[in-house]
Amino acid sequence: CKIDYQPAPKLLENRVVLVTGAGDGIGRAAALSYAHHGATVILLGRTIAKLERVYDEIEAAGGPQPAIFPLNFEGATLKDFHDMAETLDKEFGRLDGLLHNAGLLGRITPFEQYNPELWEQVMQVNINGPIWMTQALLPLLQQSDDASVIFTSSSVGRKGRAYWGAYSVSKFATEGFVEVLADELENQPNVRINTLNPGATRTQMRRSAYPGEDPSTLRTPEDIMPTYLWLMGPDSKGTSGQKLDAQPPRA
Ligand code: NDP
Repeated sequence: CKIDYQPAPKLLENRVVLVTGAGDGIGRAAALSYAHHGATVILLGRTIAKLERVYDEIEAAGGPQPAIFPLNFEGATLKDFHDMAETLDKEFGRLDGLLHNAGLLGRITPFEQYNPELWEQVMQVNINGPIWMTQALLPLLQQSDDASVIFTSSSVGRKGRAYWGAYSVSKFATEGFVEVLADELENQPNVRINTLNPGATRTQMRRSAYPGEDPSTLRTPEDIMPTYLWLMGPDSKGTSGQKLDAQPPRA
């Protein structure tokens, strides 16, 4: 956890960084913060109007011109990911950062009642889509001198909890996938891959999971950005295959 990290103002200058789920919540904050620190951000998500708002905010703040990439992980095919890689190759020739942030909660419900279609949907959005997207983008990441891939985890991806169903299982799969790929990339120090658990954060997803909770007791997406910046930028070079947290455990 690097909550006290002080990033250099131009930490991500000249870096091309793709953020999934960039229209809302933590992904929106990460896109704005990465652009504020100099990155050219590719805003990926399923709701174009939200991505356009983030685009406008980046432009208004004088950040490098971002790009919008509409994509819904449900229904996205290998071809979509390869077309994306081709477009990014043409536009930028490399990719220096990939924040897998898009996520779906599914339902908090006893396993006996879990709907199999919803289970598949959650696995598609939270792990299968991101894995195949990573495979398609690896050649571009390998073109970078210092690329960072971040997968978003959760406390229920490190210890199972009753009723969290597919969401918890998808986050365990995320942790496993990152261990496997980090091990494979051991001899490629220019590409690192880690998981980051944001911890309880004031977003729509958190409200759905804990409707009775007072949101003012939670850290905001902006509060947890120091660790997101540290892990995306050059100060974390050499860190790979690790499980990080964006905030200290709550009392
Ligand atoms: P939000 O629900 O606020 O945002 C999720 C983002 O993912 C939205 O931009 C959403 O798009 C996008 N998304 C959802 N489904 C798809 C899809 N099918 N295709 C493309 N994009 C999609 O959640 P948070 O910001 O809270 O969560 C961000 C990440 O952090 C997730 O991976 C979550 O699991 C994780 N996390 C969050 C915690 C918290 O306390 N908030 C705690 C632990 C982990 P749209 O806006 O169009 O719906």
